[in-house]
Amino acid sequence: MAPEPGAPTSMLKSLRRIVQEVVSAPDLPETLAIIVRRVREVMRTEVCSVYIHDPVTDRYVFMATEGLNKALEGRFSLGLGEGLIGYVAKREEPLNLDNAEAHPKFKYIEGSGEEVFKSFLGVPIINHRQVLGVLVVQQREPRRFDEDEEAFLVTMSAQLAGVIAHAGAVGSYRGKPRDPSRRATEFPGVPGSPGIAVGRVVVVSPPSDLRSVPHRPCADPEVEVGLFQDAVQAVREEVLAIREELSGRVRPEELTLFDAYVMLLDDHALSGEVIECIRGGVWAQGALSQVVLRHVRTFEMMEDAYIRERATDLRDLGRRILAQLQAGSRGRLEYPERTVLVGEEIPASILAEVPEARLAGIVSVSGSGNSHAAILARAMGVPTVMGVVDLPFAEIDGAEIVVDGHDGRVLVDPAPELRQQYLEAMEAERADARQMESCIDLPCVMTDGHAVKLLVNTGLNSELMRTLGRGAEGVGLYRTEIPFLMRERFPTEEEQRLIYREQLEAFAPRPVTMRTLDVGGDKALPYFPIKEENPFLGWRGIRVTLDHPEIFLAQVRAMLKASAGLDNLRIMLPMISNTLELDDALALLSRARAELCEEGWTIATPQVGVMVEVPAAVYQAGDLARRVDFLSVGSNDLTQYLLAVDRNNARVAALYHAYHPAVLQALQEVVRAAHDVGRPVSICGELAGDPGAALLLVAMGYDMLSMSATNLARVKATLRRFARADAAQLLAEVMHMDTSRRIRGAVEDCLRRGGIAVRPRG
Ligand code: PEP
Ligand code: MG
Repeated sequence: MAPEPGAPTSMLKSLRRIVQEVVSAPDLPETLAIIVRRVREVMRTEVCSVYIHDPVTDRYVFMATEGLNKALEGRFSLGLGEGLIGYVAKREEPLNLDNAEAHPKFKYIEGSGEEVFKSFLGVPIINHRQVLGVLVVQQREPRRFDEDEEAFLVTMSAQLAGVIAHAGAVGSYRGKPRDPSRRATEFPGVPGSPGIAVGRVVVVSPPSDLRSVPHRPCADPEVEVGLFQDAVQAVREEVLAIREELSGRVRPEELTLFDAYVMLLDDHALSGEVIECIRGGVWAQGALSQVVLRHVRTFEMMEDAYIRERATDLRDLGRRILAQLQAGSRGRLEYPERTVLVGEEIPASILAEVPEARLAGIVSVSGSGNSHAAILARAMGVPTVMGVVDLPFAEIDGAEIVVDGHDGRVLVDPAPELRQQYLEAMEAERADARQMESCIDLPCVMTDGHAVKLLVNTGLNSELMRTLGRGAEGVGLYRTEIPFLMRERFPTEEEQRLIYREQLEAFAPRPVTMRTLDVGGDKALPYFPIKEENPFLGWRGIRVTLDHPEIFLAQVRAMLKASAGLDNLRIMLPMISNTLELDDALALLSRARAELCEEGWTIATPQVGVMVEVPAAVYQAGDLARRVDFLSVGSNDLTQYLLAVDRNNARVAALYHAYHPAVLQALQEVVRAAHDVGRPVSICGELAGDPGAALLLVAMGYDMLSMSATNLARVKATLRRFARADAAQLLAEVMHMDTSRRIRGAVEDCLRRGGIAVRPRG
């Protein structure tokens, strides 16, 4: 049947409306109830039901219905391939029948009331390749559902799959009727930094974000009511002041917005509701966010466009009041012993705020294993799980949590036996780390006498202390953007000079490789936001600093001045994708040095290098190397760009393989090209800190490996157990393999043969 004119728009509207309503449902049963009710209405069918997979029994449970016998909800189930439902789940395809009973797979369920419904359309609900359940509509009239109806249900199911998975996970935490598809209190994510931590959740919420206000009880409701009223008064004054300032400059009708704001503030219903909620035992910020978000959701679901618009005003007002409340409570956050920071995102600045001895773990809802938050966590040796997308983080403030940074999962409120098991695993890990530490001061020499230079990646101050004397031969990557991220404005040239001097002095006479500012991608400076559709393919690294020579010049001048008399500075340029960028950067560098000499400084010429992070730089490695003193491979970015896998996106984390054959070939090619023109080459991505990869990199000919300080001992202990010939043999073997899985398997076998423990993959 041809679609009616205008049908796509109304279909899209219905889809959006249903998804919006479902997203705000408090738990899984309500989510499913809304789905069956709304889908039946929109499709004008007589029945809509949903079946959800129970992994424990491996059966599809009849969970919600409109039109069949509700008394059977949760009471019967079908196995894979059993009945029409099991058949849809097995084939992972829609099934559209005009006479269901006539199908050989049809199975009658006693008491369901199904016997009168002839036509049947079932579609699988699939999330991340897993069949979560089946969505079904049925009609008395014996007819096939038409193409549009089928397409609508398929689209609906695809959109709802993620929401159902999320609601199931969240519901299991809240102790609501159990979602059969999840184990209670366990939330999967992506490994961020290895190790296990058992600690207390401290929720990190970005300022003025209503959605991430943690749920907390309040000790003294009257104090909280007072705080709330003060915040409302401050916002009222703020709004009136803006109105005053604009009056005379804009048309009177535009000022009505501010009148509407003041009316909303004066609205006793809203304030009254918040106060009532506070008196019910919720702290002011939580009460405000609950009330405002509830009204926003109601407004957003209205048909009337004008009312829908008011949701934006209400949200804006809510944010302003929240900002006032947060400003009043700043500095009151206390970090318990064994703090586990949990948030939508974990900004670098917060890591500096928590006393080091108290920071036990990190959990981030967004991001992935090679996000910069995870790299920082690894540098600090803090167990971390990233991309825990289903975690209802605002609701678990103060809860006990297990962070399993190896397998990438967290457990909220673990049962005592489970908690004990993790504590024991933590102790065993500590003993293992102590054993690895024992070789830290020994030279990194392989059994045949081949010496390998190991360096560290730095950026954090605490890390500096940690790495001193830890057996590194210098710094292979100092991420200068980290001190930039910790501030509220660009640091001045003199402030930078002092920071850089501290680094250079700490390691002198060993070399310190400072990378020029590498912002953009997932590293946004709070005071220099870059908003882009595709930040990793956008304005980042050298592209930003070449467009802002004043920032670049101030930075390299600070580096050069800091190196006076120490002469251990090396400068490295990030994200170079063509030779012109390199030539421009080199010209700016020479200019900075010449100016300093004119100003009377005596500064040795530092070695300058290029980071090989994009595929273009691999193909042009020779041209780039010829112009500079060294190359250094940034394997984190190189892997993301070669495999077209966003390093910050948990959804594609399983595709991010630094052991991918294409990555290994690129790595080998860079060494060949650099050595052909007589330049040394190092690697400073996370791969260098992987003991198995270190063997491959040494065999490829990498002159230096630079890694997180926490990996140094393990890599050193590994290299000291093998001869270079063993590494060469392993490399020859894996270079013929065509999948990263086989390569990893071969590397792990080799490590085991050398007596190095390898964790089984979870
Ligand atoms: C890299 O990309 O490998 C690298 C070392 O730089 P960063 O991780 O800071 O992007
Ligand atoms: Mg990089």
